[in-house]
Amino acid sequence: MIRFQSVNPSGTEGEAAAYVAQVMREAGCDVELQEIEPGRPNVIARLKGTGGGKTIILNTHMDVVPAGEGWSSDPFTMLRKGDRVYGRGVMDAKGPLAAMMAAIEAIAASGAQLPGDIVLAAVVDEEAASLGARRLPDELHGDLAVIGEATDGSLAIAHRGSIRPVLVAEGVSAHSSTPHLGVNAVSLMARTLVALEDFAEQELTKRIHPLTGQSTLSVTVINGGIKESMIPDRCEALIDRRLIPGEAEDAALREIEQIIAGLPALDGRVRIDRLVPTTGVASATRPDHPMVELASAAIERVYGRKPELTGLTANCDMTHFVKRGIPSVIYGPGDFSVAHKIDEWVTLSELENATRVYASIAVEVAGSYR
Ligand SMILES: [Zn+2]
Repeated sequence: MIRFQSVNPSGTEGEAAAYVAQVMREAGCDVELQEIEPGRPNVIARLKGTGGGKTIILNTHMDVVPAGEGWSSDPFTMLRKGDRVYGRGVMDAKGPLAAMMAAIEAIAASGAQLPGDIVLAAVVDEEAASLGARRLPDELHGDLAVIGEATDGSLAIAHRGSIRPVLVAEGVSAHSSTPHLGVNAVSLMARTLVALEDFAEQELTKRIHPLTGQSTLSVTVINGGIKESMIPDRCEALIDRRLIPGEAEDAALREIEQIIAGLPALDGRVRIDRLVPTTGVASATRPDHPMVELASAAIERVYGRKPELTGLTANCDMTHFVKRGIPSVIYGPGDFSVAHKIDEWVTLSELENATRVYASIAVEVAGSYR
């Protein structure tokens, strides 16, 4: 699977999806390919139960982030060294994907007659705008969704989300020898950014979720000015605003608008121009939800200790399952701090643990009646 260069942006998940579909068909699943964009299908594989049971959804994504420079070996050829395997996506998220597939294959091969369905939802585009998870079929229901992202042996029940507004400052260009004849868009943007950072410092640091940490706001891209001797008439800045569970997209945008509106010196020349798509907003599942206890017990059986309940600081597709009213948790092999870096690795023993955990959760859920 590492060989399929499902790099997002630029590649497609098509080859990886065809492989996942074939393996799942051979295991005895009903497989549906849901084309999200040309050559980019979600794979929905269902191991049908005998009827009347609960449905478990195992979800993760087939796309990976670009390899980047500086790898010690070819990022798209999986390399094994002792207990570790290296390659782009071995952990995020082809490791959990392989573990989910192996869990379903093992359950199918065991001949276990479970009343409920086990569904693998391998989606596209998690690393960009989550088009895959957002557009899963409306009729997809489950009693529990397990999202495969690295949690280092813990069980995550919350994650942050984000919105990415692009601010535009429109000034008036002039010769820079006579700056008073123009309006400097870069200066307007500078004032705006200082005000937004003050807000982040004074207000967002107080908004803390016990599992995901605090809300944040950062400027991550800025563009302005075209020539050294021209007063710039346009400046754009991208704001990466990280939301915690409970913070709504609209409210967070309104706050930014209000800060801009509260700066008379900007003279109405700065506005939110557009939103860059993100994975989505934050979400959380109650720690005392019975499905959290079920997943926690499965991890305890495999690791011999109760998992810590944690939250991801990053985005993930869980939000799109929570939106459908499906209780959701995040669990996956590996340490999240290795994700999106060069020489990404995961241990084979963690992949085995994850396979056992997914199989155990799937059997518990699909083995019980509704
Ligand atoms: Zn991921």
